[in-house]
Amino acid sequence: MTVTVERTIPFFPPDLFETDREALLATLYEVGTDPEQKFILGRRTARFEDALRASLGSTDVVACSSGTSALTLILAAVDIGPGDEVVVPAFGCAPLASTVLSRGAVPVFADIDPLTLTMDPGHAGTLVTDRTRALMPAHMFSVMADMPRLRDLASRAGVRLIEDSALAQGGSLAGRPAGRWGDAGVYSFVQVKVFGMPGEGGVVLTDDAELAGRVRMLRNHGQDGRNRFLHHHVGHNSRFDEVMAAFQSHRLAGLPSRVARRTEICSYYSERFADLAEAGVVAPPVGGDGRFPYVYTLLCEDRDGLRDHLAAEGVDTHVYYPRILPEQPAFAPHARLDGSRRPWPRAREAARRNISLPLYPHLTDAHVEHVAAAVRAFAHGRKR
Ligand SMILES: *Cc1c(COP(=O)(O)O)cnc(C)c1O
Repeated sequence: MTVTVERTIPFFPPDLFETDREALLATLYEVGTDPEQKFILGRRTARFEDALRASLGSTDVVACSSGTSALTLILAAVDIGPGDEVVVPAFGCAPLASTVLSRGAVPVFADIDPLTLTMDPGHAGTLVTDRTRALMPAHMFSVMADMPRLRDLASRAGVRLIEDSALAQGGSLAGRPAGRWGDAGVYSFVQVKVFGMPGEGGVVLTDDAELAGRVRMLRNHGQDGRNRFLHHHVGHNSRFDEVMAAFQSHRLAGLPSRVARRTEICSYYSERFADLAEAGVVAPPVGGDGRFPYVYTLLCEDRDGLRDHLAAEGVDTHVYYPRILPEQPAFAPHARLDGSRRPWPRAREAARRNISLPLYPHLTDAHVEHVAAAVRAFAHGRKR
């Protein structure tokens, strides 16, 4: 069946928050005219932290200015600094390396699993030295990292496990939510994430009360929240916005249904792509546990060909990380090669082959069917 799609199906849709437009405008007015005149870290932020804590069952949730900042605050709270090493995946987003470097520590890059695209615990284990202070794996696109093995590795090495779960909200593994496997985890609320919002923000989540207390101080210039202008630590400005806090509290109730719709779309894609591996189009691993519906990413030998084909079919796509972290100009000078001439071969393959399809709750069935049919047509080498 041919589905006609009049306009391009965008990868980043411009109407993500359309259904909550009235709520957003009302919130903006309410916060703006509140006699309290508190625009950051007020009672709305506290209420939002409480609501998230209740929904996750974690001991503490600390809202801050972004997912990147959440990672930085954790690294600072556990005193990672010059001379320390943190093992991170070679494939992923810049904050995995930049947050470590911004602390004066060294990111040590581990290769990834070729299918889950997350840090390979086996390779990570070979990189642990007496300078290693933490492992910082990241969940990737729609698959959680192998947290049981990484937890085991961290415990055996006596190092911290910092979980970059920025994009994995809604995921869980063996009954434990993403973000709750590490000593501390994070979520990002930048607009495209599963619980995105029209602004910048993130949270740190942890069961370690002392760590949470440190993070809470560090997000606001090292103050303790009671004594203003008393600075216990060298802190940051990483505060949370009251308008966004109220808006996210309002949106929290709808999160499960948006996650469910995203999951439904992922399952449909996976069903339609299950037999395409031989044709050079590899879908993400199927299976409920440890999966979450953030970004649906295919691996394709002729990635750019698929991208052009989908564009011609009115399907917008995105290539997240076309270059591995240790080969970024900013990070290459800090990357340890360990004598290997072409290290991180699987990260390199992922960077060369990854391509992501549109995935958001308000995609219609017709759109989803059109995307799937266009991918299948490419794999079968025929023009539709
Ligand atoms: C989005 C993301 C971040 C950064 O979050 P921001 O809120 O954009 O700073 C960090 N790590 C991963 C894996 C992410 O997907």
